[in-house]
Amino acid sequence: MSTPKTRGFTTTILHSDAEAGIEHGALHKPLHLSVAYGYKDARDLAAVFQGTQQGYVYGRQGNPTSGALEVKVTKMEGGVSTVCFATGMGAIGAVMLALLREGDHVVASQFLFGNTVSLFGTLAAHGIKLSFVDSTEVANVEKALTAQTRLVFVETIANPRTQVADLERIGALCTSRGVLYVVDNTMTSPALFRPKAVNAGLIVNSLTKYIGGHGNALGGAVTDTGLFDWTKFPNIAENYKSQPRKLWGIQQIRKKGLRDWGGTLAATDAHHIAAGAETLALRMGRTCSNAQALAEFLSAHPQVGAVYYPGLASHPQHALARTLFSGCGGIFSFELKEGVDCFDFLNRLEIVVSSSNLGDNRTLAIPVAQTIFWEMGPERRKEMGIAESLIRISTGIEDCEDLLADFRQALG
Ligand SMILES: *Cc1c(COP(=O)(O)O)cnc(C)c1O
Repeated sequence: MSTPKTRGFTTTILHSDAEAGIEHGALHKPLHLSVAYGYKDARDLAAVFQGTQQGYVYGRQGNPTSGALEVKVTKMEGGVSTVCFATGMGAIGAVMLALLREGDHVVASQFLFGNTVSLFGTLAAHGIKLSFVDSTEVANVEKALTAQTRLVFVETIANPRTQVADLERIGALCTSRGVLYVVDNTMTSPALFRPKAVNAGLIVNSLTKYIGGHGNALGGAVTDTGLFDWTKFPNIAENYKSQPRKLWGIQQIRKKGLRDWGGTLAATDAHHIAAGAETLALRMGRTCSNAQALAEFLSAHPQVGAVYYPGLASHPQHALARTLFSGCGGIFSFELKEGVDCFDFLNRLEIVVSSSNLGDNRTLAIPVAQTIFWEMGPERRKEMGIAESLIRISTGIEDCEDLLADFRQALG
């Protein structure tokens, strides 16, 4: 609207709600808990149903509080439209369910969030074909493309081994082949990286992680960047083609993915996430500098084996990460030397919490093989380069000296 393009990221987030006008001059978008919305003129109700007028009808399809967050996420990502969901998995599931048909093919990174891998297993059981490739090299993606490939799905920085996808080249490949490029931006967040810059058509964010940031609300979002030509996508139903072409895909995701599957973001959670998002850029700056300091400290420690962090010169995609991202993120992992028990080490940490979440303000640690990668068994772990002593750290915003001291004393 009237926002000058020159406004910075944080200013834009802080003043986003006010642009559309907030009820009673409130500075926060209020919580709208009503399930249904009434219309004085029934013709307006019909117009909203028919998509010729903006408005809310029933809470499963969205409410004004999550609507304000959708606008905010769209601005953060530089996109054209966003749909919010109850969780990040809800967002990813909705994209796949709304856009794929039996016999369609997906090329996905082999370094993915575990539950996304599990979801792809479910899709395979429903007749979707999948190829998992090493996404750090565009050539692997190119080799896997077929005439049936409907989308390519990658994450920016993988968890827990921090592989960085060849994001820009994969984007160029997808553009030249007319294939939809979907990027999960959770690990970097729009504060460090905008997938639109590498030609992503759709961006997924788990709002639970850095965007909300405080570990007090679950949420997810899908943003359309406006770059993908939906007229070339065969699976758009005729009745969603009444909207401008740029909105065909997101419209189908809102109807088929959100309305029909019902993974709706609650207004209270949207409010927590929106408040958290106000400090996203500040928190990411601190998170990245803390992660860098810890990764450097651990790489020099005699009790520690390999350390995996894109901000280290030893990381295979270090140069790539430096050109793509304005910071290397808060996730790193490391192996303890033989003879150091990972549980004893974790139990000696006094500030760092043993917990499975990530993107919290607090620094969290988890032994990978014994927890999040336990279900897949030792052989699959070995294939994926997950050592039995691997520990994943989600760096928080504590004072750096306190974190360094905690790791120092726990390593003895
Ligand atoms: C956590 C996470 C998700 C899923 O988000 P939820 O909000 O937990 O459902 C998806 N992708 C990545 C990369 C994640 O880290």
